[in-house]
Amino acid sequence: VRERSRRRILEEIERSDGAERTAMKEESDVTLQSSQCEDFQSASERTRQALKELASRWGEEKCSLSEAGYKWSREVGFGYVLPTEAMTCRPISLSLPREDMSASYSSRTPVKQHQGLIVAPSPPCGFGLFATCKLSKGEVLGEYTGEIRNYRIWCDEIKARKVAARGSEASSPFVIEELYAAWAGSGPAMAGVVIDAFAAGNAARFINCSCRPSCTFRNFGMGSENHSRLEVVALRDIEPWEQLSVDYGWYHDPDTLIEVQAQAVAAYAEDILQLQALKDLLQPSAEASSSTARAAAGGSEAVEMLAEALVEARGRPPPIRAAPVSFLRRFLDVEQVISYIQCGKSFAAAESYRQIPDPVWPVYEVVGAQRVGIACRCGMDPSLNSGGRCAGIIGRPMQAAHSGKDGPAPVTSYHAGSLFG
Ligand SMILES: [Zn+2]
Ligand SMILES: [Zn+2]
Repeated sequence: VRERSRRRILEEIERSDGAERTAMKEESDVTLQSSQCEDFQSASERTRQALKELASRWGEEKCSLSEAGYKWSREVGFGYVLPTEAMTCRPISLSLPREDMSASYSSRTPVKQHQGLIVAPSPPCGFGLFATCKLSKGEVLGEYTGEIRNYRIWCDEIKARKVAARGSEASSPFVIEELYAAWAGSGPAMAGVVIDAFAAGNAARFINCSCRPSCTFRNFGMGSENHSRLEVVALRDIEPWEQLSVDYGWYHDPDTLIEVQAQAVAAYAEDILQLQALKDLLQPSAEASSSTARAAAGGSEAVEMLAEALVEARGRPPPIRAAPVSFLRRFLDVEQVISYIQCGKSFAAAESYRQIPDPVWPVYEVVGAQRVGIACRCGMDPSLNSGGRCAGIIGRPMQAAHSGKDGPAPVTSYHAGSLFG
């Protein structure tokens, strides 16, 4: 069941991308310094310069350049030296057919790799793909290459990896090996085809997720075997030094969403005693730092964040903070929690996610996504999402537009700008 619905969502992404197609302009010509006849020394000098530009905007992050990374980039026609630490896959400029996928494409001409892109550190997501020049809406930036896999066989392999690692078939949390597969069509025998860039690929595999994506993967070159290639296309104009992003849409996969909700219920249940104790913090006699400490002692990140927010909202000096403000704080309206408690309502046991009280539901939904492995933190990375508006879950519409409790989410979030302006 999980596989079928995952397939459905991947197909849906494919369809929505197809609809955008007619609106796209043709690829514009960009003349940039070519890396083709450049030696390692000057290529890494140029790469260093660009990394320095990025560091001056987004903060310094260490990475090293080596002859091996230079060769990797040459292999896939990439314009800058790949940092040594990012060399986690084999470089291929054309996708590699596996299993029964031989004579698939209408053409095997490689897509021209845009020379104005660079791979650079992007904590906490490891590495990301950045623009070094202005990119225009509709521009083709390169191809998403990887191993062309029979979807059914690929799913079985992922399942086997999970069993080997955890001794169970439980699908969550996701494993790193399954995060690089993109849907490419129904394929021969309708088993489905994915392009998997985990073990082999090119720079497109470094594109991170964002609640406000700047790019999408578009199908082209459909061949006789019913699957296509994928090109990376800019959904809007992109400024120099911005990080490229796509929306991987996991929130719209029904089975993934059910797991997020189940994990939210589990996390809420673990916190319930401390949630019930939060009302003590609203007593006039409560002394801020000691009672916050007591309320949150040994508690989850959510409980700690809630206790702190309540103390601050009551105008007491907040306790000294050892760590930066929790990301979860974004999903809390503290006044709602205060009026909930003051109305005498309590944090009762929840059998389903619908019973998690509304004032803390958005927090626990994000915690659930975290436990499943589809949390989004794009809002903490201004290179990835300059507006900072992040729903905390990959593919989720903003909480203001969708509560997560009333019916399915609108699918429009695939289209950059449709929901988020
Ligand atoms: Zn990410
Ligand atoms: Zn986000």
